[in-house]
Amino acid sequence: MPFASPTDGMERFFRHDLQHLNAYSASKSPETMPTELAQAIVKLDANENPYGCSPRVYEALNQCPSFNLYPDSTQKEIRQDLAAYTLLPPENIVAGAGSDQIIDLLMRLFIEPEDEIIDLVPSFGMYRFYALLHRGRVIEVARRDDFSVDVEEVKKAITPKTKLIFLANPNNPSGSVTREEDIEYLLGLGVPLVVDEAYYEFYGHTVAGLIKRYDNLLVLRSFSKWAGLAGFRIGYGLFPEPVAAYLMRIKDPYGVSVAAQVAVRASLGDMAWLKARVKDIISERERLFYYLQNVEWLRAFHSQANFVLCQVLDGRAKQLAAELEQKGVLVRYFDRPRLSDCIRISVGRPQDTDKLVETINSIRRY
Ligand SMILES: *Cc1c(COP(=O)(O)O)cnc(C)c1O
Repeated sequence: MPFASPTDGMERFFRHDLQHLNAYSASKSPETMPTELAQAIVKLDANENPYGCSPRVYEALNQCPSFNLYPDSTQKEIRQDLAAYTLLPPENIVAGAGSDQIIDLLMRLFIEPEDEIIDLVPSFGMYRFYALLHRGRVIEVARRDDFSVDVEEVKKAITPKTKLIFLANPNNPSGSVTREEDIEYLLGLGVPLVVDEAYYEFYGHTVAGLIKRYDNLLVLRSFSKWAGLAGFRIGYGLFPEPVAAYLMRIKDPYGVSVAAQVAVRASLGDMAWLKARVKDIISERERLFYYLQNVEWLRAFHSQANFVLCQVLDGRAKQLAAELEQKGVLVRYFDRPRLSDCIRISVGRPQDTDKLVETINSIRRY
């Protein structure tokens, strides 16, 4: 919501450029709903993991002796843990309070007022949000109808002010992916390229191995989706060493809590369990996709992540999201150009898909 008026009260001391910035429209928290409703809700709106985190996270937290001490600002242990997982040296890794915080850090490092980022829309809303907070400009390059990236269009959009290109792979909210040869083409343009791999574990392909060869490749990862730790706020980036070293200098000293570090170690120590849940989600995604594809008034887009984007062919996507919500099923609607006739449905457990199917079937169209 915009401020009342820049000349009123305290508002006149606020940053003027923030007046027109819209808050990021986040998903709905069950805590904000009446309890009976919150308990019955099927929450398919934020790509959270319906199986929760590894049970070992709870055990490890119970045994952790030291929540009274600040975390290690050099991130020694968590960088080692992440190095073992990613097979990159600790010097190439920076952890943060969610990959969102790493996006913010990248803006701090690269964006001066009026500098530009390239956003391959439709995509994840946080790139725009943080760029604007840092007084940057957002240059949008539209994806094709099938949500693939036209790399020639990206090249044309580059100016001397372009500091970062953001590519979510797989992309949120389309679930589509960009081929490695296209990513290499973008890297060849020389501008820092952020490849956001928040859904890597569902997709199985990464470009992290290219960091040795390209000094402009920045890769983002998260524990929110595959590891069920969205509430902990823990993500990380994989960078060429000079970028990682600079980010360590300018980061929030205690961005990653002791609890989050404990949760990461426990999760990485329970890979078999977590991988089995990822597999469950992938097979459920295919079942969900097959169902949606067969609803004649919907068009589902194939996804490599843990959600499925779905076009509502009569255009009434907002109404559909509202009707589903009334019946206890939360999905995501985006009031944005290419997406205004779409909903994004996160993959849940089989019983969640069943409830969604039953609810969609009960909503008559035509
Ligand atoms: C969910 C998501 C993130 C944010 O992850 P956090 O680690 O929870 O901050 C980043 N990028 C994309 C594309 C996402 O969908």
